[in-house]
Amino acid sequence: MSQVAQAPSSSAAVNNSKSRQPILRLVGIEKVYGTVTNPLTVLRDIKLEVQEGEYVAIIGPSGAGKSTMLNILGCLDRPTRGAYFLKGDDVAQMNDAQLSHIRKTRIGFVFQSFQLISHLSVLENVELPMFYARISKRQRRKKCMEIIERVGLGKRWKHRPNELSGGENQRAAIARALANDPAMILADEPTGNLDSATSTEIMSILHELHDSGRTIVLITHDQEIAAAAPRRVSLRDGQLDNDTHNQAPSATEVHP
Ligand code: ADP
Ligand code: MG
Repeated sequence: MSQVAQAPSSSAAVNNSKSRQPILRLVGIEKVYGTVTNPLTVLRDIKLEVQEGEYVAIIGPSGAGKSTMLNILGCLDRPTRGAYFLKGDDVAQMNDAQLSHIRKTRIGFVFQSFQLISHLSVLENVELPMFYARISKRQRRKKCMEIIERVGLGKRWKHRPNELSGGENQRAAIARALANDPAMILADEPTGNLDSATSTEIMSILHELHDSGRTIVLITHDQEIAAAAPRRVSLRDGQLDNDTHNQAPSATEVHP
């Protein structure tokens, strides 16, 4: 077996993300809606790299193109121009079946409006992605109950969405996003329908998922939530205009 790339142990933790392949790479992405005679350019020349294990907040005013960008990242939509590489694979070269497979296996989605199925229980909602992935009923139950416990819904698994609070619904939606163990969670305004105390609880679940190694891309227009993210990318009129990191001290800064 080959050795893991060698890095000086003292700076390995700091430089770890840099040595990895980006999980997401957008090059010159453009998205145009509308018609040929009346085009609406929503994203222009977006360049972005996200490393595996990063936690990035995309911020920007309403209409800036945040959801459009997240839909492209989640392979729910295709860009008009530009290239999108997901772990080095060119998404433009993939057919719809391949994109659907990626959505089911590599990405967990969390939306503002939860998007749970109303006539199914929490457990059944969480099981659904595993059902489509043809995982056996016994395995599904076991894994889903573990995930449901993990998001703090252990006593609510039998309930339907309309019997639960907004925060509980979002916990269930996060559990569903985790069902197929995706490397990346894409969340579009996940606290948009929640009060501030509940938002804090939901954000702490997302932070825990990040701590356990998942890549998180979160859309928010809440400055406080964005400020808690290690990296913030701001989108204005379809263009990225700022990319800020909470810098960990670099290897050189660590030395006196
Ligand atoms: P945000 O999430 O930042 O509020 P969106 O990405 O939803 O912004 O929308 C950006 C712009 O693109 C808006 O002007 C919106 O009206 C437009 N838009 C979004 N989706 C479509 C669509 N399917 N067809 C036409 N215009 C769209
Ligand atoms: Mg939006």
